[in-house]
Amino acid sequence: MVPKNHPRYHSLYYRSLLERGVDEGIVVKTGLIAHGRGEAFDYLIGEKTQGFARKAIEAAAALLLLAGYPVVSVNGNVAALVPEDAIMLAKELDTAVEINLFYRTPEREEAIYERLRGIDDGMRILGASGSATYRIPGLESNRGLVDPRGIAKADVVLVPLEDGDRTEKLRDIGKNVITIDLNPLSRSARFADITIVDNIVRCLPLLTQKVKQLKHADEEELVEIVNNYDNKGILKEALTFISKRLLDMEL
Ligand code: ATP
Repeated sequence: MVPKNHPRYHSLYYRSLLERGVDEGIVVKTGLIAHGRGEAFDYLIGEKTQGFARKAIEAAAALLLLAGYPVVSVNGNVAALVPEDAIMLAKELDTAVEINLFYRTPEREEAIYERLRGIDDGMRILGASGSATYRIPGLESNRGLVDPRGIAKADVVLVPLEDGDRTEKLRDIGKNVITIDLNPLSRSARFADITIVDNIVRCLPLLTQKVKQLKHADEEELVEIVNNYDNKGILKEALTFISKRLLDMEL
């Protein structure tokens, strides 16, 4: 149990979810390392959703609403940290979630499937029970496999906490890629069409809220939001914010 009065309660709480995820076969050990890298960048952005993330959230919501077939990707860390929020977003978009793993094993697929199913037994969950059979060109081994009914078919994919190589290959096959990544320097952050530089635990509910809010906007408005969005500019804003914050920091 994490003591609630601990000054870093939230951070410890989310670490405990990941630890439990490892015990349940949902999270792999390298997922813990990835989380540590994310935490370091979260410190640098002040552990708050900043303006650059809010702009990316708005563009992401607009792009998801314009999509013919959007899919929400769920990996081990996402399933351990924010499974409810991933499902809520997919529901709001009236679409499916897909279990999309870098280290794919039948046991892991099953454990994540059970976690998601336990939250919402009506949810359409792809990528389980050996259904990831489409290979993304250029990606060998199990990390290249996605569900032919899901990511393979989608025009817009939300792939949070994704590896840069896979993001690049998804772009290569014509997908519009939205990612969530605390590290504005990562390859994923740079390859994606839209990068939300924020902690997934904070920004996923905000993204769902934004989708709800923009749902009734007309198409023209959504197109304008997407067209006015500049991902390189947003990453620059994040880096400038971090640099300035460090220079101005009083110890
Ligand atoms: P890349 O291959 O994109 O250059 P990487 O080698 O860091 O980056 P991974 O370790 O596969 O790639 O990806 C994990 C990414 O997810 C990291 O960039 C990390 O900053 C980010 N991350 C980890 N935890 C969170 C979180 N809770 N919220 C948002 N981003 C996170």
